[in-house]
Amino acid sequence: MKLSNSFVKTLRDTPADETAASAKALIRAGYVHKELAGVYDFLPLGLRVLENIKHIIREELNAIGCQELQLTALQNPELWQKTNRWSDQQVDIWFKTALSAGGELGLAPTHEEPITNLMKSYVKSYKDLPIYAYQFQTKFRNELRAKSGIMRTREFLMKDLYSFCADEETHNAFYHEVEKAYARIYERCGIGDCTYQTFASGGIFAKFSHEFQTLLPVGEDTVYYNKDKSVVLNEEVLLPEVLDEFGLKKEDLQSENAAEVGNIFTLKYKYSEPLGLKFTDKENKEQIVYMGCYGIGVSRVMGVIAEKFLDDKGLVWPENVAPYKYHIIGIGEEGSKTAAELEAKHPAEILLDDRDMRPGAKFADADLMGMPYRVVISDKTLASGEVEFTNRKTGETKLLRFENFCDNL
Ligand code: ATP
Ligand code: MG
Repeated sequence: MKLSNSFVKTLRDTPADETAASAKALIRAGYVHKELAGVYDFLPLGLRVLENIKHIIREELNAIGCQELQLTALQNPELWQKTNRWSDQQVDIWFKTALSAGGELGLAPTHEEPITNLMKSYVKSYKDLPIYAYQFQTKFRNELRAKSGIMRTREFLMKDLYSFCADEETHNAFYHEVEKAYARIYERCGIGDCTYQTFASGGIFAKFSHEFQTLLPVGEDTVYYNKDKSVVLNEEVLLPEVLDEFGLKKEDLQSENAAEVGNIFTLKYKYSEPLGLKFTDKENKEQIVYMGCYGIGVSRVMGVIAEKFLDDKGLVWPENVAPYKYHIIGIGEEGSKTAAELEAKHPAEILLDDRDMRPGAKFADADLMGMPYRVVISDKTLASGEVEFTNRKTGETKLLRFENFCDNL
């Protein structure tokens, strides 16, 4: 992409009410635009980051047999009444809206009810199971306080996966596959070494659910971990009986702030029973479908990555999620021409700063925007057949042979 063609400009100022460092950097660098408290637009660069994260998730989920679909945002109250989740007393984050013909609809905060109901059209016998279906969807939640920039918003992108099994055994095996897929997803997103699978409360269906928590000083949650036993516990399960079970004492645990980037739940019959999702087994007996659900906050993951790697100059994207791999700046007549030719050949990997600006301002913008590698091609470097290559993360600069750089593109 050529910056001269982009409507997005880096900004000096951020909205006065924006406090999160990552949100300020994302706004200044032109990744997001703030509409309202907790409501953000994703601009071309920000959208590319989201798409890269989605691509990683999609590959890992498809590899364990999941199918992608897309459900509606508008919700039928009747379904949610069946599970006792329509009333604002039960679920306090609903956005609801009136139909002009009378009656109400909801804007989906999650999708267990509609997908369970949908499966009633397709699940009849044990031969139809298991089913693993997921989507990327905008969720709406009337959060009391939007905070931490794109990490807690009122409209956000979630990946939600639902599993439908004939029995607990099949469910457990799949649940384990998802645990492994999630570890690969966070690894590929560049936060593998600081993201832990934690034990969280399981409600009444399973002893524990699991969360995926990324250690982050500004994270809203607190996790407790024990290095020797590799156990990480959420605050809500820090009870004497749970500590006993892991053979731990409270003083063996270190606490740290973290952000929840995903979670996985065994739902059992919580939704399938009230909504009547059943199948007939081999003996022709009617059984209730055994369910699980698995979420990842895609836009929150983007915020967590931004926050995690941010430095005093701006954003620093890990290679797999960066909108472009190279930020190229041409200097001088030959340098600029060569840079433009490279961008024309590799538009998906190169962000070309071809604006009519002084190099110093372009370098500052390259640091703010955070592509993994900055490449300066000037008449001077070209004269010795080289380009200047800087690693955004380490700040390390070296000269590379021009043809070697081109070969590796
Ligand atoms: P939290 O505990 O952070 O409120 P949750 O437990 O309600 O989240 P789920 O409803 O299971 O989370 O949603 C799945 C994932 O969606 C979460 O793990 C989180 O990463 C993300 N998420 C939840 N709420 C928000 C929000 N308001 N803004 C952005 N992402 C969110
Ligand atoms: Mg939670």
